[in-house]
Amino acid sequence: MPRPIRATIDASALAHNLAIARRQAGGAKVWAVVKANAYGHGIERVARALEGADGFALLDFAEALRLRDAGATKPILMLEGIFQSADVPLLARRSLTPVIHSIAQVGMLEKRALERPIEVYMKVNSGMNRLGFTADNVRIAWNALQAHPAISNVTLMTHFADADGAGGVAGQLEWFNSMTAAFVGPRSLANSAALLRFPETSADWVRPGIMLYGCSPFADCSAADLGLRPVMTLASEIIALQHLAPGERIGYGYGFEAQCAMRIGIVACGYADGYPRHAPSGTPVLVAGQRTCTVGRISMDMLCVDLTHLPDATIGTPATLWGEGLSADEVAAAAGTVSYELLCALAARVPVSEIA
Ligand SMILES: *Cc1c(COP(=O)(O)O)cnc(C)c1O
Repeated sequence: MPRPIRATIDASALAHNLAIARRQAGGAKVWAVVKANAYGHGIERVARALEGADGFALLDFAEALRLRDAGATKPILMLEGIFQSADVPLLARRSLTPVIHSIAQVGMLEKRALERPIEVYMKVNSGMNRLGFTADNVRIAWNALQAHPAISNVTLMTHFADADGAGGVAGQLEWFNSMTAAFVGPRSLANSAALLRFPETSADWVRPGIMLYGCSPFADCSAADLGLRPVMTLASEIIALQHLAPGERIGYGYGFEAQCAMRIGIVACGYADGYPRHAPSGTPVLVAGQRTCTVGRISMDMLCVDLTHLPDATIGTPATLWGEGLSADEVAAAAGTVSYELLCALAARVPVSEIA
């Protein structure tokens, strides 16, 4: 028998969450962000479920080619653009739209021929200070892209550093607008957080990622409150039971000590499945739909949960690590991280199935 762990991907939840993004976006077109194997969900199946998107955004050429080979004909936006001049011919050949964010990339574009015209995005650094042109080279880049014989359209783009936080978007929005005021072209700014909280930034193209997967970009607002439905459910089963007397300890490093008599379930899921090893005792888990929590350290292949108040739970009882009934956001918060990291970390050894 296979080990009982499995991930289930809910295709109808993806479509539902895309509809929410589209409603927020007003008339703007939607790039569905599917980088990192669609946030761990499987890029081909997600692209199929999100066929209503206007295009797909990612950054790995291998993933872009996987999408094209799977039959995707929509535009594909390469969020980190090209990495070397050898990438340039591929842009035209496979219809990929690169984000050009540095003078070095402009040089690569000028060095290699394009079989036919492409569109590009020009990324402006409006304050995140990661990628993009600054005030002193934005004009140089714009002129070079406009002069390029095989570039048919340039969309202006920036990325917000704190759309989900206290900083908001006002400062970056103002800086972006002033740096691009002289340029005529479509614009793309919003990630999930900006789309949900500042829909006035939607412009011509929005770039939602995490919300499509049914998680919240905000620490202070749940996915359910945003009307989003979870897409990935990671579930397993109890494979052993333990009884701890007061003072007995459990797991590596004896990381947890029972204060009273406890009944413990051992769940077939560990950090080699993608469960965060740094999740402390008390991280929420659902057992047969009832809330309980982890006790002790997460092992490579197992974790321990408290069943003291769940007398019916036994070997074979299902356990949900995150997803339907328990948001990955909540598990991530308990583990000191964000749902993005949990979803992306789903291990290759976990069998994935899809429900319509
Ligand atoms: C990942 C990414 C997004 C999507 O961000 P979410 O927070 O997941 O919505 C949008 N734009 C860029 C440039 C990105 O890298």
